[in-house]
Amino acid sequence: MRSGLVGQRTAVGNQIRGFFLSAASPCAKELETETPPAASEATAAQAEAGTTLEQPSSPQLPKSARRALPAHLPARDVVHAPSCACPVCGREMRKVSEDVTEILDYIPGHFEVVRHVRPAFSCRRCESMAQSHMPSLPIERGQAGAGLLAHILVSKYCDHVRSTTSPAFTRAKAWSSTAPRWRPGSAKSRRSPRPWSKRLPAEKLHVDDAPVPVWAPGMGKTKRLWVYLRDERPFGGRAPPAVVYRYSPDRKAEHPRAQLAHFDGFLQADGYSGFGPLYQAADRQPPSVTEVTCWAHVRRYFYDIHVTTNAPIAGEALQRIGNLYVERTAIKLSPEQRQRIRQSVARPLIDDLATFLDASLAMISGRSELAKAIRYARSRWAALTRYLDDGTLEISNNAAERAIRPLALGRKNYLFAGSDAGGERAAAAYTLIETAKLNSPDPQAYLREVIDRIADHPINRVAELLPWNIGLASPIRAAA
Ligand SMILES: [Zn+2]
Repeated sequence: MRSGLVGQRTAVGNQIRGFFLSAASPCAKELETETPPAASEATAAQAEAGTTLEQPSSPQLPKSARRALPAHLPARDVVHAPSCACPVCGREMRKVSEDVTEILDYIPGHFEVVRHVRPAFSCRRCESMAQSHMPSLPIERGQAGAGLLAHILVSKYCDHVRSTTSPAFTRAKAWSSTAPRWRPGSAKSRRSPRPWSKRLPAEKLHVDDAPVPVWAPGMGKTKRLWVYLRDERPFGGRAPPAVVYRYSPDRKAEHPRAQLAHFDGFLQADGYSGFGPLYQAADRQPPSVTEVTCWAHVRRYFYDIHVTTNAPIAGEALQRIGNLYVERTAIKLSPEQRQRIRQSVARPLIDDLATFLDASLAMISGRSELAKAIRYARSRWAALTRYLDDGTLEISNNAAERAIRPLALGRKNYLFAGSDAGGERAAAAYTLIETAKLNSPDPQAYLREVIDRIADHPINRVAELLPWNIGLASPIRAAA
């Protein structure tokens, strides 16, 4: 069933592009202006800044939306000069004027003003005029450079600071007339009609989900963010790690089912019953999603009983499950080596554990918490022991739980579902930033590069901007 995987892996870049499109587009645009500044508003900003109103030289870049940035900031000129030869007659041209566009940028440690200088040349002979176009900016009418936007995104999604209270944003707001309008909440997601799982080829995905609090009462059920993680680092696989976050307005089983359409492989998850139909769906094409579950979840059940009741059976179960983590010596080994260790060491331990649990269940009340924990484990035994036979699988779903952790920190600070669109934007931002973190020691440098390039990047080649294609990714690191 997984025979086509080599081909799939080589096509990672191609097939994954939609994932990047849906993640990167709203994110790069996340801080875009809430509404394009109306002419009157721009005029007011000009008047307030004490500058004169000029006719914009380019319809895409009305200079009226900007005001001069503080003179005390270090400034760097980037000159965009046209050819010195007249495009009409070929004679030498002379400079007659120049346009300057100031952008506020952030380089880790300090702000700087980037002055885009565009001299206008006139031909000495035929008087033709020439001037270079202004390069595309991350925010068309804004004053924010790629480095500043990357810094604000990282402050919010990595450091969990509300974007509007981050020190960089606060200072930028004091200096830039356009900063107050960089509020998240405006960009419309470019949603791809094709399910992302078709474009994130993986033979195994870790999945988990987390609640997103509702901002206003009466908005209905708790919203969810789902996490789908591809991580082959523990067995030295070649596919780069990637994580996709998806939003849904509730926790119905139809969401993972739709999100995983076209996925064919192992699905490692906790015991959430909503995944059940995926494992059984006979009408599904392709039909083969194989359940792998998580020993850490089983262990947690026995641990909770052990600390509250100190039951000897729970204690012994904990001890026996702990012994399975011979696993730790299998990190970075090949799938075949991992499988051999598991077969020779873990298999006999697990067989004994099954006997022990069955014998214990016969001796205790069927209604006890301990009996429930034993039944939870024994009813999932095939999925719990599947990792013994395949060295590409993991003993636990901890990788997905690590990917969920930033959401818990975000919830404390800024993350809530004010609207479904907001939930989808948060999912896209986490997808981009957490995938960058998995691949690069410096996600801010990566984001800066992407934000800088995405406006002019051909949409059909957006996969080139993925962390592992852009040339900034670090060598594959072992899973923590
Ligand atoms: Zn000329």
